[in-house]
Amino acid sequence: MIVILKHNPDPGQLGGLLDWLREKGVTVHTSVGEANTILGLVGDTSRLDIDLIAALEIVEDVKRVQEPYKNANRKFHPEDTVVRVGDTQIGGGSLTVMAGPCSVESEEQVVTIAKAVKASGATMLRGGAFKPRTSPYAFQGLGETGLAYLRAAKEETGLPIVTELMDLSQLPLFQDVDVIQIGARNMQNFDLLKAVGHQEKPVMIKRGMSATYEEWLMSAEYVMAGGNENVILCERGIRTFESYTRNTTDLAAVPVLRRLTHLPIIVDPSHATGKSWLVEPLAMGAVAMGADGLLIEVHNNPSHALCDGPQSLRPEDFDHLAKKLLPLHSFVAGMEG
Ligand code: PEP
Ligand code: MN
Repeated sequence: MIVILKHNPDPGQLGGLLDWLREKGVTVHTSVGEANTILGLVGDTSRLDIDLIAALEIVEDVKRVQEPYKNANRKFHPEDTVVRVGDTQIGGGSLTVMAGPCSVESEEQVVTIAKAVKASGATMLRGGAFKPRTSPYAFQGLGETGLAYLRAAKEETGLPIVTELMDLSQLPLFQDVDVIQIGARNMQNFDLLKAVGHQEKPVMIKRGMSATYEEWLMSAEYVMAGGNENVILCERGIRTFESYTRNTTDLAAVPVLRRLTHLPIIVDPSHATGKSWLVEPLAMGAVAMGADGLLIEVHNNPSHALCDGPQSLRPEDFDHLAKKLLPLHSFVAGMEG
């Protein structure tokens, strides 16, 4: 349920309403906007008399929210969420570019790539230390050592790090990580979602391969219900009958999510297509759709990459793409503004 308050509500009456709601066992999230303040009520609101609340002097309107996700719902929080990471921000009109190798392979590799992508305009460094691989015989990532190499690259370049957390036990190793990635395969690992909801680092949730928008938003809801509101969503393609591309890129996710939620939206054209030559057109399409950012795999030697070489851009290809992204983003922002 959402309660839309009149402008400048009487503080005494508002305090009385909040106390009464809490007595009824409901949690209240307050969203202060330019025009109105909205109270988002979470919990069992079935016993609340909607007419009684609507009749209060300070209340403009009361609506039941049908969607099962509340904290992630734009109705609860009409203004876009902006996630701040170091000196950079995700959402709020900026274009975030997360770039780096699929897997961290050596310190030299990740530092070299980090320097190159930073020079081209990337705002964050991505790289997997713990890798979810379909085959148990494939390279599984360097683990804790990989995190140390990412840290070295962050020290060299200043780029914040985004990397995947696969298991709860790895969380204590993530102190220097800036954004925790929950991979597609773990989108519905509810214990993992609860755990990252109880800590403060921003969390980027990749869309599960067969997840509906609602299931994906419910995963965000798990994190937010734990108290962590810094959630970012990443479209990385879904599994369909089409096998030419690794996944089918659902660019409609950008405007659909923009309507349903206030959370920032990132598109990953690398995993979404599996082919390096498709990364540029899909990245441009995502920016034209209004995405808040991109996640792009970059490798200095894709043919020798230990993971996802065929979809990785060489640093010079990334540079070429990055030079097109910023003007396109400014153009799209200008049309909207
Ligand atoms: C990744 O970003 O390297 C990754 C494994 O992505 P996804 O979970 O989308 O497959
Ligand atoms: Mn990858």
